[in-house]
Amino acid sequence: MYKKSYTAKYCVGCEKFLLDKEIVKGCCEIHPGKKLETISEENYFFKLSDYKEKLITLIKTDKYKIQPKAAKNEILSFLKNDLRDVSFSREKSRLPWGVPVPGDKDQVMYVWADALPNYITGVGYGSNSNKFKKWWPAQTHIIGKDISRFHAIYWPAMLLSAGLATPKELLVHGFINDEKGRKMSKSIGNVIDPFDQINTYGLDTVRYYFLRSIPSNQDGNYSETDLIDRHNAELVNTLGNLLSRSLNLIEKSGGKVPAGKYDTTLKKEYNTALKKLNESVANFDFHHGVAAVWKFIAKVNQYVDKTKPWTLEGKKKEKVLYNLAESLRLISALTYPIIPNASEEIAKQLGIKKVPLIKSDSIKVGTKIKKGKHLFSKK
Ligand SMILES: [Zn+2]
Repeated sequence: MYKKSYTAKYCVGCEKFLLDKEIVKGCCEIHPGKKLETISEENYFFKLSDYKEKLITLIKTDKYKIQPKAAKNEILSFLKNDLRDVSFSREKSRLPWGVPVPGDKDQVMYVWADALPNYITGVGYGSNSNKFKKWWPAQTHIIGKDISRFHAIYWPAMLLSAGLATPKELLVHGFINDEKGRKMSKSIGNVIDPFDQINTYGLDTVRYYFLRSIPSNQDGNYSETDLIDRHNAELVNTLGNLLSRSLNLIEKSGGKVPAGKYDTTLKKEYNTALKKLNESVANFDFHHGVAAVWKFIAKVNQYVDKTKPWTLEGKKKEKVLYNLAESLRLISALTYPIIPNASEEIAKQLGIKKVPLIKSDSIKVGTKIKKGKHLFSKK
């Protein structure tokens, strides 16, 4: 840290000094219409430039992994340009309510210099070393794209300066906009309250919609019409109908899971869905994984249409019913991280006490099904 006097354009909305190239029509990009201030003052500076090469290496080698790739490249190109030292304090006369800089009564802390260390002090740094050892370094740090620079550059540099490890990865999440792609704001009046949505459509439906329709690695538009369409088509029809039609068939044949060996084609489809779900979770690319799981559910529906178990008798029918029960058991496992309440309900109606683990073997012969209410109702 060192003291320096300087003059620059400042956005009060971001609490950030802007470079000339970041000024669009005289304003900050995030706060169009908010007048920029020209500020001259003497502040303490953090020698960010000292960490430039170390940061480039950490990010390039994925030792500090930034996802998605586009965000990683953006941060790398920012680092390769002119990386300036950052002002880490403000004059107290301008921000009298600020947190004082230790040892200097005329200066207060810059908001990010004070806020970022909460990530470590919150898990015991400086107060509880056992707790800190347990929780730091963080595995994945999730932030919105408008504050990526503070988290992808300032914060790891501060950690390096303090001799501490950086988080292992950083996920830069896109914005969730309204259905026309506009930023949600109180002044436009297009803010969607997630709790209202949960009250209207149910928690699983809202979770499903976010994971299936809003990509985490770019901006997404929240459309209630799209949510209702997906709820009706994918949750009520594809998943809910498979459960009720399968359990109806088993119920009419005595209500117990017959003996069988799982169909090899279905098993292959399940393995593909599981593999894609695992990959998508590792890459924070959830919508691809959810789509793969629903593709498997659709395949099981097609299996019912093709085999027409209501026309079969004896062993042939038992074989199909076993495959349906086992498929539903696997679907309960696959859907647990996406729609946990419905997943538990599937397990319950199948007569299984707990949601099965992915690696557990197969449904037990003679399991008594407990057909219950519809998983989802039409909206
Ligand atoms: Zn701004």
